[in-house]
Amino acid sequence: MGRRILFLGPQGSGKGTQAGLLSKLLGVPHISTGEMLRQAVADGTDLGRQAEAIMAAGDLVPDDLVVAMVAERLSADDARCGYLLDGFPRNEAQARALDDAMSGDALDTVVLLEAPEDELMGRMLKRAAEQGRKDDTPEAIARRLAVYGEETAPLADYYPTVGVPVERVDAVGAIPDVFSRVAQALAGAAGG
Ligand code: AMP
Repeated sequence: MGRRILFLGPQGSGKGTQAGLLSKLLGVPHISTGEMLRQAVADGTDLGRQAEAIMAAGDLVPDDLVVAMVAERLSADDARCGYLLDGFPRNEAQARALDDAMSGDALDTVVLLEAPEDELMGRMLKRAAEQGRKDDTPEAIARRLAVYGEETAPLADYYPTVGVPVERVDAVGAIPDVFSRVAQALAGAAGG
């Protein structure tokens, strides 16, 4: 099974949770650009200062900033045998930049987590109550879902055109049940 995997799916579909579980199983790093950016904001770095207001509004941080951050992360030793990307690429320009940075060979498989919008909204409002993320206000959630639909969802059609298979996984249900579907989809993608 290839170990360069992109988790694609709308906010609330469980990408972070599923990528975290798979990361432990495969021993490759889980790279979440949302987490990296939140850390940059918390640390008060230049990047964090540039990203903070954009993130709070639910918009995308400029491609060049995110691409540079990811390229640096992927050059670290622990990413040599694979990586699980969560939250990047978010649009076709980022997908092309990722491929350029990895000499045209960035990904083995895309896992697309699918869930109905009312389920996603419910999960995000629950997380808002639990974690108090600044971008979990109803306005920012609506904006993030709209941005996902316009910019990120089309990646599910883009990747097959460049030879990367997209495995669709039903993300409704208990975390372990969804995880076994993810594992099954990846085993299928590897041809057994
Ligand atoms: P996430 O935790 O993946 O939902 O990301 C939280 C926020 O970080 C997003 O709403 C964006 O503002 C920003 N962000 C994360 N990943 C990216 C990316 N690949 N490109 C642009 N902005 C991003």
